[in-house]
Amino acid sequence: MPPTPAPSVHGSDACLSALRDRLPAAAVLAGDEIPARNLQDTSYIRPVRPLAVVRPDTPGDIAAAVGICAAHRVAMVPQGGLTGLAGGGHPIAGAVMISLERFSGIEELDADAATMTVRAGTPLEVIQRAADDAGFFVALDLGARGSCQIGGNLSTNAGGNRVIRYGMAREMVLGLEYVLADGTLVTGLNKMMKNNTGYDLKQLVMGSEGTLGIITRAVLRLHPKPGCTHAALCGVDSYDGVVKLLAAARRGLGPMLSAFEVMWPDYWHEATVSVKGVRAPITGPHAFYVLVEMQGLDETIDGARFMSWIEAAFEDGIISDATVSQSMGDVAAFWRTRDAAGEFGTVLGPHCAFDIGLPLRAMDDFATTCRARLLAEVPNALSVYYGHVGDGNIHIVALSRGADIQPTDAISGIVYDTVRQFHGTVSAEHGIGLLKKKYLGYTRTPEELDLMRRLKRALDPLHLLNPGKVIDIAETAT
Ligand SMILES: Cc1cc2nc3c(=O)[nH]c(=O)nc-3n(C[C@H](O)[C@H](O)[C@H](O)COP(=O)(O)OP(=O)(O)OC[C@H]3O[C@@H](n4cnc5c(N)ncnc54)[C@H](O)[C@@H]3O)c2cc1C
Repeated sequence: MPPTPAPSVHGSDACLSALRDRLPAAAVLAGDEIPARNLQDTSYIRPVRPLAVVRPDTPGDIAAAVGICAAHRVAMVPQGGLTGLAGGGHPIAGAVMISLERFSGIEELDADAATMTVRAGTPLEVIQRAADDAGFFVALDLGARGSCQIGGNLSTNAGGNRVIRYGMAREMVLGLEYVLADGTLVTGLNKMMKNNTGYDLKQLVMGSEGTLGIITRAVLRLHPKPGCTHAALCGVDSYDGVVKLLAAARRGLGPMLSAFEVMWPDYWHEATVSVKGVRAPITGPHAFYVLVEMQGLDETIDGARFMSWIEAAFEDGIISDATVSQSMGDVAAFWRTRDAAGEFGTVLGPHCAFDIGLPLRAMDDFATTCRARLLAEVPNALSVYYGHVGDGNIHIVALSRGADIQPTDAISGIVYDTVRQFHGTVSAEHGIGLLKKKYLGYTRTPEELDLMRRLKRALDPLHLLNPGKVIDIAETAT
């Protein structure tokens, strides 16, 4: 079995004309009609021109488009909002992009069951607003909320800001509809919390980055809208103090703890000095800056509980300084220090971004080792560390300052080699896509990799669905 199919020009032409025959004219774009936005995602890999972009607007048409591509042995790449950072939605030359952008909208909000049935092309922010309007809360939130689509979120099993309380994207899904590589439409729009009937098939498709199925619709669990939200920005003197603060937050705030974000001083400097418009809510210097957020039900009871919890952390010597929100405006201002990372492309220029996971206790030693190796081995290296430490996930932004072309391979090699040394994972939330494929074996055992290949071969024997992403079926384990 060749790793990537190479359809003949004749096969491509026949496929395109079959797609045009079956789908409405607006749904098939080829040649110069293909919008520039479909030529790359946010991973900044060099743009590639595919055979066509198809934009079906019903599950039946999505299935039909996949069936036609499969019949003509033409590879397909599912595309959502194209905010992915790992290259999973990056086009493949000669392939057909299956874009979900025209299959958007909320089909049902069931207030009694606290569920929402959504189309895969719906932007996350639209879903968040609809839930809010109906008195509910959608657990998933991330910086790309305005552009990313729920289908992309589920296919990457996105993480984001509130995983510590609600879990990853897959945990908010009760039911899923998807199209397999041969065009079979599988409708499993379950709305029940408990449905223990055989294999949980939707879990295979979610997190597969479009390699095992194309998500068309989903039933999402909704949560009650929080009655109050409070946050504190804390200065902590040591990493041991950070670990103690997390334990104290879990004990003192219980399930109300909704975020625990840690910023190392190198990150704090770039975020509050280099990024315009971001004010430091506490004065430093501190060894660590920690953003703790709580979502409660009742302002009088839970607001007071948060204040007494933070006072106790101060009296116990766990934190050396803190500022506590007095309004939602303060909460937003605290989050701006964390969201400033979204501006690093502008203030630092081209860089490498990582979303690694590590055992909690190892994070600071990892940061020290990784920073030292980058300084020793990469000219003019700068690396900054921050992230969802409460979820065991930190982000790194690393670059060679002043370099015309970033030494991406050298930087990635050092970061992932250090991740392996500290028994971490090469991706905690963005996925593998193209960029991390060669490092997958740093985190997964040969037996796990072999099982992934067996699943891929079973569900996509012609290797047509997003081929070459996540794992190469012909490759031997590294
Ligand atoms: C500013 C910014 C902040 C971010 N913050 C976070 C964060 O906190 N946490 C996090 O996890 N990620 C984050 N991301 C990464 C990205 O937003 C997420 O991975 C998001 O879930 C991707 O959704 P998308 O619709 O843009 O997918 P795309 O980029 O279009 O695609 C991503 C992958 O999913 C596949 N895919 C897309 N739609 C479907 C579908 N309907 N069916 C099957 N496969 C499909 C694609 O083939 C590709 O492999 C961030 C990105 C940016 C730019």
